[in-house]
Amino acid sequence: MNLNTIVEVKRPASEGDIPAWREGYAWLAGGTWLFSTPQLATHTLIDLETLRWPSLKASAAGLEIGATCTIAELERFEAPAGWSAAPLLKLCCHALLMSFKIYNAATVGGNICMSLPAGSMISLTTALEATYTLWPREGRPRKVAALDFVTGNHKNVLAQGELLRSIHLPASALQKRFAFRRSSLTHLGRSAALLVGTRAKDETGFLLTVTAATARPMQLKFDRFPSDEALRQAISKTIKDADWFDDVHGSAAYKRHLTYYYAEQIRSELA
Ligand SMILES: Cc1cc2nc3c(=O)[nH]c(=O)nc-3n(C[C@H](O)[C@H](O)[C@H](O)COP(=O)(O)OP(=O)(O)OC[C@H]3O[C@@H](n4cnc5c(N)ncnc54)[C@H](O)[C@@H]3O)c2cc1C
Repeated sequence: MNLNTIVEVKRPASEGDIPAWREGYAWLAGGTWLFSTPQLATHTLIDLETLRWPSLKASAAGLEIGATCTIAELERFEAPAGWSAAPLLKLCCHALLMSFKIYNAATVGGNICMSLPAGSMISLTTALEATYTLWPREGRPRKVAALDFVTGNHKNVLAQGELLRSIHLPASALQKRFAFRRSSLTHLGRSAALLVGTRAKDETGFLLTVTAATARPMQLKFDRFPSDEALRQAISKTIKDADWFDDVHGSAAYKRHLTYYYAEQIRSELA
């Protein structure tokens, strides 16, 4: 849609060109959400595309994802041999309510900064133990664990004008075995529940990440592989009644049910 409150689009060529932050400014990434609804409080967009941040860089340490990397680019990424969790990238890229346009324009950083429960880039990066690099408008860059970034439905830890610059997926997580379960009420619809379990190759531990069913990502970490009963108890201890996310894509009770159901399937698959 046309945003008739916008009077200027700034296109910085480098970080040095980014203007001091003012009320009414908004970062523009893929624009798939920004242009989907009126932005009455916004008069200036600052386009991140012109900064030309590298999209994807694989190294022995893991995968560095520029915040402006599109979901389509991430979906096409060919991972080095040994990154057994790499198929999760593709699975999560397809776990959005997505038209062709959104798929090609939406960015990984934009999806994370939207901080919706059904943000599948949040699911992916939390499950793979990512660290985000944030650029405050004043001061030095800071690092935040993916698990701590989203604080509620459409809420996160970004201060005013603060940028998400990049996402680091550690090689140790990319080398894990994984199991994935997702449900949505309609084919290609918004996720009602998206769960990922991971387990290191040495077979110690188990990490279960619950997203979409809850307003923010929840994670259960086990040093020893849990029994079915231990897993159920841990879910009920960690996820409180108020954490289940009730919306048109599923009631809280439905999402709670899916979570227990899929968690046990994931546990059995990785046992
Ligand atoms: C039909 C439709 C279906 C959708 N389905 C889903 C869905 O299933 N799940 C879901 O999560 N979302 C969904 N969305 C919302 C949105 O399109 C996606 O979250 C998308 O990934 C946002 O990415 P973008 O690059 O287009 O962000 P933009 O629209 O450009 O920006 C989104 C917000 O993030 C801010 N932002 C962007 N990048 C940065 C950055 N690097 N640092 C700081 N702030 C930043 C922007 O200022 C803006 O507030 C849907 C939208 C539509 C229209």
